[in-house]
Amino acid sequence: MSDLQYQLDLVKAMNKKISESERMYRLIVEQASLSFIYYSYEKDQYLSMGSFKKVFGFDIEDRSDVERFFGCFESNKESRVREVFFSENFSTKEEAVDTMDSVGKRWFRIICTKIYDNGKLTDKVVKIIDISRDMSRSEELLYMAYYDSLTGIYNRNYFITLLDGFIADAKEKGDKVALITIDIDDFKKVNDGLGMIIGDEFLQQFGSYLKELQDDRVLVSHVSNDIFALGIYNPYGDYESSHFIDTIRTRLKEPFKMHSGQEVNVSVSFSVAEFPDAGQAAQELVGCGDIAMFKAKTLGNNQVLYFDSKMLEDFMSNVNLENKLSDAVVNHKFEVYFQPQYHANSQTLRGFEALIRWKDDEKGFISPSEFIPIAEKNGSIIPIGNYVLDKAVRQYSEWREKYNFDFTMSINISAVQYKREDFVDNVMAVIKKYDVDPKNIELEITESILIDDFELVTKKLKILRDFGIKISLDDFGTGYSSLSYLMKFPIDTLKIDKTFVDSVLHDNSTRIILDSILNMSHDMGFESIAEGVESENQYNYLNDKGCNVIQGFLLGKPLPAAEIIEILETNAKANA
Ligand code: C2E
Ligand code: CA
Ligand code: CA
Repeated sequence: MSDLQYQLDLVKAMNKKISESERMYRLIVEQASLSFIYYSYEKDQYLSMGSFKKVFGFDIEDRSDVERFFGCFESNKESRVREVFFSENFSTKEEAVDTMDSVGKRWFRIICTKIYDNGKLTDKVVKIIDISRDMSRSEELLYMAYYDSLTGIYNRNYFITLLDGFIADAKEKGDKVALITIDIDDFKKVNDGLGMIIGDEFLQQFGSYLKELQDDRVLVSHVSNDIFALGIYNPYGDYESSHFIDTIRTRLKEPFKMHSGQEVNVSVSFSVAEFPDAGQAAQELVGCGDIAMFKAKTLGNNQVLYFDSKMLEDFMSNVNLENKLSDAVVNHKFEVYFQPQYHANSQTLRGFEALIRWKDDEKGFISPSEFIPIAEKNGSIIPIGNYVLDKAVRQYSEWREKYNFDFTMSINISAVQYKREDFVDNVMAVIKKYDVDPKNIELEITESILIDDFELVTKKLKILRDFGIKISLDDFGTGYSSLSYLMKFPIDTLKIDKTFVDSVLHDNSTRIILDSILNMSHDMGFESIAEGVESENQYNYLNDKGCNVIQGFLLGKPLPAAEIIEILETNAKANA
């Protein structure tokens, strides 16, 4: 190979290497979403590089293209870009600006670097970095800090900050601030019945509606799932809490229309807590609002409750009771009493209802009507219920043995116990444990267990009845009871609520209802029991109308097991 040929090959190879590394360089720069504008002071020449063309749609070749580049920015940003680009008085070599292009709302950081050669300015490189992704993330974060993503109104945290602002102003000026908490009644039914998507759409629509009420004296927030809140500065005149409540109630008389065409109807409950009476800070108002709401919910739907100090006292004593209750569960401070039930006609003993008793060291007997709801809420009804079940079945087995007498032992079962997966097995296990005949054990349930899941409840009841256990529907007449509904429901016994017994002698409409309940019960083959019978007259009336069984103070109060023995002995003598 000649020398010349060798040198030519070398040059070719070098060129190839150079163009390869150039290509690599270009690729890397484009990959990194970097765009450059290069300017040579010596040649007065502009050039764009990297992904410039891809981003802006043109190349820079001369001064007019640079103007076109400036034109890509929003007018308020354009001057800043220009400044960075042209300023000759840089004390530093870099300058950055966040800017936005006019088309796609993109964000760029622009850094201008000047290159000096022996103190003489030779070149300028303007680096343009697309930071849109970072920006939209931080915008989003900013949004999430203040607004609820579902409804777009203030979230809980920011609402509290703003409400504290209201309170600070009110403190200075001697004004008031009201917090209205809005809780959608039975929202679970909307979600379960129409689906979560409709549920969410409803919350959005309701949120947008509430937002219309917002102005510089009214804050609107989506606090959590189905809870909204209004904060009102100086709630007087047009800004009175009751005024907002009426407005919202009027709106709720009309259904909300979903995109799918479905209509959603709801009612809501309101609580109102005011600065300065209910608290000195937003959090305190929220706490008092929650207490009032808690109380409102126990009264049913569509309630309005204004917080007052009595509510706080009740709440605290409930909390106190709850603490005592856990202590009672741990230290077994319960006992079971038994109340006799008699066949109305023959006045012979039918059996007993087991009723729990709790004697507190300080407060004495605490009524189950008071503590059972708390136990249901915090779950301690499970150990309590198991205790009663075990105790009552064991007691039955003992008495059955001793007096050789078949009677019925009725045991109250809470909906919470009933819902447990192991409930049916649990009951059967106790019955087997004490080796009793299931037909002598009766479970008293209330209609409230049917509300959530009719199918599942009915299935469980059928298993229990097939096993031989009797089912009694307690407090009949106080719930939603309807005839058609009862037909589907596998029960043996109907317990007519005390409220009917109380007023039957002097209230004509009660009499009509009671008579028809007794007829219906008879026709459907249920055994009827009237509870809370206190007088001879009530007894006679019920007996005449064909009520099967009577329970009440007239014939016997609930008593501890030791005192029941007397009844059982009398009974045994009468049967002998
Ligand atoms: P309930 O099941 O309706 O029980 C009847 C309630 O009426 C009992 O109240 C009983 O003492 C009372 N009573 C009976 N006859 C008369 C009467 O002639 N006049 C008056 N004024 N009252 C009468 P108690 O024992 O205070 O129980 C209240 C409620 O607490 C029960 O109502 C029941 O819902 C619940 N409960 C009681 N024991 C248990 C239990 O072991 N488990 C569950 N889950 N709940 C229970
Ligand atoms: Ca009962
Ligand atoms: Ca009852």
